[in-house]
Amino acid sequence: MRSRSESAPDWCRCSPMMRGTAVKTVTDQAERSAALEELYRFTMRINRQIPFVADAGGAVLCIDPLWGEWAGAAPSEALGFGFLHYIHHDDRSMVKVAWIDAMAHADAFLLDHRARMADGSYRWFRCASEKYQLPGEPLRWRGLLTDIDELCRARTAAQDSEARFRTAAFATRDVIWDLDLATSTVTFSECLATALGYDASHTSAASWWRKQVHPDDIDRVTQAFRACPPGERWICDYRMRRADGSYMPMQARAFILRDAHGRPVRVTGALTDLTEERATKRRIERLQSEMADSSRSGAAAAFAMLSHELNQPPTALANFVRGARRLLEQDDPTARDRVLMAMDAAAASASDAGAIVHRLSDLVSHGEGRLSAQNLWEAANDARALTCLDTAGGGVRIEIAGDLGDLEVIGDRLQIRQVFLNLFRNAVEALIDTPDPRVSVSVAPAGEFVRVAVIDNGPGFGANKPEALFAPFTTTKANGVGLGLSICQMIIEANGGEIRAEPHPVGGAAFYFTVPQTEGRSDADASIG
Ligand code: ADP
Repeated sequence: MRSRSESAPDWCRCSPMMRGTAVKTVTDQAERSAALEELYRFTMRINRQIPFVADAGGAVLCIDPLWGEWAGAAPSEALGFGFLHYIHHDDRSMVKVAWIDAMAHADAFLLDHRARMADGSYRWFRCASEKYQLPGEPLRWRGLLTDIDELCRARTAAQDSEARFRTAAFATRDVIWDLDLATSTVTFSECLATALGYDASHTSAASWWRKQVHPDDIDRVTQAFRACPPGERWICDYRMRRADGSYMPMQARAFILRDAHGRPVRVTGALTDLTEERATKRRIERLQSEMADSSRSGAAAAFAMLSHELNQPPTALANFVRGARRLLEQDDPTARDRVLMAMDAAAASASDAGAIVHRLSDLVSHGEGRLSAQNLWEAANDARALTCLDTAGGGVRIEIAGDLGDLEVIGDRLQIRQVFLNLFRNAVEALIDTPDPRVSVSVAPAGEFVRVAVIDNGPGFGANKPEALFAPFTTTKANGVGLGLSICQMIIEANGGEIRAEPHPVGGAAFYFTVPQTEGRSDADASIG
C-alpha cells in the first residue's frame, strides 16, 4: 500500500482474492510481491477492513475495491471527497469537518460513522488514518475503514441490557453487588447510596463489606456462604450497617461462580432491604392479634347485649302481671278491663323478648335491622310507657314535644323504641336526686333525616367525656354494665343515622340522634346538631 501512489492505485484494480488458489512455491520476486499483496488484501477482507490513501488535503486517492462491493458503487466513486455521499446524512457534516480539521491540525484521525450499503441499509464504520511521508514523496494520509457494525450493535445491546438491569435494580431498590474473590474487591450499584447511604458505584475491599455486617450475623453469613452447594443460589438474611450507624435488615441473594475445580471465584447478587417487609409483618401480626381480641370482646359484647336487652321485657312482664294480680286481689269488678289491659301488655312484653332476640342477632350478624316506615311518636310513646311502668315513674316527667303525628322514619320500630327506652332509663336513673325531674323529647326534620333530642335536667356527665360513654362496658353506675349507649349507637348507625351526647347548656345531659325520613320528605338542614 505504501509503495502505491495517486498515479498508480494498482490495488484498486487488483484481481480477486487468493481464496481457493492452489498452494505452490513462489520463487519469482514480482510474483512474490503480488502474492504478498493478495495476502494483505485477503487479511483486510477477513477483518472487514478497507485500506485507503488520501492526499494532504484529505482527497481520497485510492481505496480497496471492497468499498465498491459494499457501497454498491464503483470504487472510483469514493475518490476525492466522493466517499462523503455514502456517509449517513446525520454523520456527514461531522465527518467532513473533523476530516478537514485533522488534515490541517493533526497527525492522526479516528472517527466512527455510518455508511450506506448496496442494499440501502447503513453500517457503522471506524475510520482511522495517519499522516506519513516517504523521503522525496508528497505527504499522504493512509487509513483503514473498519466495519464495526456488529461491535456497535453488541455494545448498544449491552448498554440496553445494562440500562434495563439498572432500571430493574432501581425499581426493586435492590443493591446489586459483585465480589471478585481473586482480587477481594466488591462493586456495588448506585442503590447503595439510597439504601445504605454510602457512595454510589462503590468499589471496595471485601473486608469493608465484612465490617458493615452486624457482628452478631457475620459468622452465620460466612458459614452459609461456605455451605452453599455448587449450582445453588446463596440466600441469607442479615443486618448491614448504614452510613448513619443504624442497621438495616436485609436479604442477600447471590450466585457463586466457580472455577473448573469448583472453587468460588466470583459472587454476584442483590441485597434487598427488608425494613418495610419486617414492619408490614409486625403490623399484620398486631392486626391479627387485635382482630382476635376484638372478635373475643365482640362476642362478649353481643352476649352481654342480649342479656341486657332481654332483661327488660321480662321485667315489664313481671310488673304487668304483678299489677294485674294486685287488681284481682282488690276483688273490684270494675277493675276487670284494667286487668285485661295489663294481661295484654304482659303478653306483648313476652313476645317483645323473642323479637328482641331476632333483632339483636340481626344487628350483630349483619349490622342492620329491618327497615320500614315507622311512626316515631309511637316509638317514643311506647318507650315512655315502658319506662314509667318499669321504673314506677320515679316521679320523672317525660315530655314529648310538638306534633309528631305525621313524622315517619325509615327504621325498625322496636329498635328505635329500644333507643328511646335506653335513653329514658338512663335519664330516670340520673335524675334520682334532681328536684322536679324532667326529660324532654323534641323531634324536628333535618334534611333527609329526623333529628331527635332527648334532654334531661339531671347532673349531666360531670368530668366524663360524653363521646367516651358510647364505648361498650363503660359505666359510672355501681350495678351498670355499660351497654345501653353502645346499643343505642349500634342501632342508630344500623338504621343509617348518628347519635351523640353533650352537656346541655343549662345543665343536664343532652342526647341527639338522627334517623332517615321516609322517602319524599326532606328539609334543607341535614346536620345532627
Ligand atoms: P349503664 O347502663 O351502665 O349506665 P350506659 O351505656 O347506658 O351504661 O351509660 C353509660 C354511662 O353514661 C352511664 O354509666 C352514665 O355515667 C352515663 N349516662 C348515660 N345517660 C346519662 C344521663 N342522662 N345523665 C348522666 N349520665 C348519663
